[in-house]
Amino acid sequence: MLKGKTAVITGSGRGIGKAIALKLASLGANIVVNDIPSSAYADDTAEEIKKLGVEAICVKGDVRSKDDVDNLVKTALDTFGKIDIFVNNAGITRDGLILRMSEEDWDMVMDINLKGAFNCIKAVARPMMKNKGGAIINIASIVGVAGNAGQANYVASKAGLIGLTKTTAKEFAKKGIRCNAIAPGFITSDMTDKLSDEVKAQYFSAIPLNKFGTTEDIANAVAFLASDMSGYITGQVINVDGGFVM
Ligand code: NAP
Repeated sequence: MLKGKTAVITGSGRGIGKAIALKLASLGANIVVNDIPSSAYADDTAEEIKKLGVEAICVKGDVRSKDDVDNLVKTALDTFGKIDIFVNNAGITRDGLILRMSEEDWDMVMDINLKGAFNCIKAVARPMMKNKGGAIINIASIVGVAGNAGQANYVASKAGLIGLTKTTAKEFAKKGIRCNAIAPGFITSDMTDKLSDEVKAQYFSAIPLNKFGTTEDIANAVAFLASDMSGYITGQVINVDGGFVM
């Protein structure tokens, strides 16, 4: 389905990003793994992907840095000649109630989750225009749609990412570039492993499908939005959350 395509996935050394990279590779895409310079996993992930019979490289860099992002895009283009799919997946949490949230925690989450995606969209838009099209997929969160006490910075960054998705879709539709977002619900990963059993139980009781999501559930939705099967879809947010928000 994606044979000969090139996909770049930020924050793909582990977690949801890694699952996305493996899924797109299993469908035939060549993969550029990105993660922060200190990542202990990114090189191994690229090696694992190569075993699926596609090409894969690892380009470390912090999405907050315009220079790092420009290098990521340039290296991908130098290696594969084009970028067809770009997934803004890198993201962090620094939770706390508003009255206790530090300016530093606010800034860090906004910088990585929102400005990082802006840096990447700005860098990849021109090469995609030159290539007469592309698919940008932003990994938002269901809390960016519904809000969540104790996550003001994270919620604001993900709600902002949804707004950025719609604006990107409108600005580049005529150039053949589609931009959509996925809003995952509670997905089993290192990010959610940190939550207390009490918080996990609260989430669980509110999920109609009666189970937590897997990284593969998100990867499947990305594969759809990355492929021509979603060719008439842009500017949308797909909730992948077991029915948590409807
Ligand atoms: P994760 O396991 O913490 O993985 C996040 C990845 O992003 C890691 O590989 C991390 O690198 C990388 N990263 C962090 N800061 C970066 C930066 N500045 N530049 C480049 N890469 C960076 O999280 P996850 O659960 O897979 O989440 C992936 C995405 O899904 C995030 O955007 C998150 O907000 C979103 N999401 C997750 C859930 C969930 O339930 N898990 C729900 C909704 C949305 P290191 O390995 O070095 O830390």
